[in-house]
Amino acid sequence: MDRKLESVKIEGKDVALLSEFHVRFACMEHFDEELDDYVNDFEAAPDTHQAELLEDESLDKRCRACGAPAKIALLKEKGL
Ligand SMILES: [Zn+2]
Repeated sequence: MDRKLESVKIEGKDVALLSEFHVRFACMEHFDEELDDYVNDFEAAPDTHQAELLEDESLDKRCRACGAPAKIALLKEKGL
């Protein structure tokens, strides 16, 4: 739901992350809310991906707000 990671596999590609920005998940219903929270908490707009494209088994892909299976991952990639 809310993790700090150095990198994550997205569609088979290792993507380096800015680890001070968390990896969060949201369902469609809470996406706008989570986007606002992300910007408030980290003072930067996140990069977003479909949650199913993140291949890290250890990730808890549930919406941070309601715990439902998430559709969108919010994270911050290095160098973008
Ligand atoms: Zn939700």
